[in-house]
Amino acid sequence: MATAKKVAKKAAKPKAAAKASATPKAKKTTGKSTTPDKFSVEQKLKALFDLQNFDSAIDNIKIVRGELPLEVEDLEDEIEGLATRVKNFNTEIKGLDDFIATKKLEMKDAAAIIKKYAKQQKNVRNNREYDSLTKEIEFQNLEIQLCEKKINEHRATIESKAEVIGQAKSDLKERKDDLKYKKKELDEIIAETEKEERKLQKKSSSASKIIEERLLTGYQMKRDNVKNGLAVVPVERSSCGGCFNKIPPQRQLDIRLHKKIIVCEHCGRILVDPEIENVNL
Ligand SMILES: [Zn+2]
Repeated sequence: MATAKKVAKKAAKPKAAAKASATPKAKKTTGKSTTPDKFSVEQKLKALFDLQNFDSAIDNIKIVRGELPLEVEDLEDEIEGLATRVKNFNTEIKGLDDFIATKKLEMKDAAAIIKKYAKQQKNVRNNREYDSLTKEIEFQNLEIQLCEKKINEHRATIESKAEVIGQAKSDLKERKDDLKYKKKELDEIIAETEKEERKLQKKSSSASKIIEERLLTGYQMKRDNVKNGLAVVPVERSSCGGCFNKIPPQRQLDIRLHKKIIVCEHCGRILVDPEIENVNL
């Protein structure tokens, strides 16, 4: 609707150069620099600061909400990994059980052979036949012993694996509970932050009503152009809260007067006195 002019110019253009000790006389600024509209510069500065705070809070909500689904996703991946692990262990144990079953059958066969040879020994025609059967029996006994040894080894492996499986299963259960909880939390947070965001949007738009369009456009453009979305920053420890460059004393004084919109000569952000927070709108 209103003048769609492309305003990039900041109010109160920094007095170029003159960075050496500024002449302390410039201090007095036209007390009535107030624009024709009904709000004073001080009120506008306050509104700008508020606006920035609301908009930053909205930015943060978006960041937080952006990370939560990722956390849930990570948890889901972890659960899948654990489930696969449990499955693989079970397959391994099944293999070991099969091996033991095979060995048991082999033992049974060996025992049957021994029985058969022992019977044959009773009907041998000579010593040579008898000895040969004795050797066979001995061999089968050795086979049985070998099977027993293998079975015991495998049983021990199964036992230790069962322990690991038990751990993995309980981890799995824990993660699943975590996931259930996290998902619920996520849903709640989404619902909650949406509510919060709407509230902040409202506050942001009512703060922006106090600021004239030219300033507002500059604010928006600055926000879009800086990484942290900060277009209005407080003076902190005599420095710009945006780029942290020192602010000359005279400029600091001017900022504290709340009489003009002053921007950082390094980064172009609007500088405000932190005390502006206490001004009533
Ligand atoms: Zn700066």
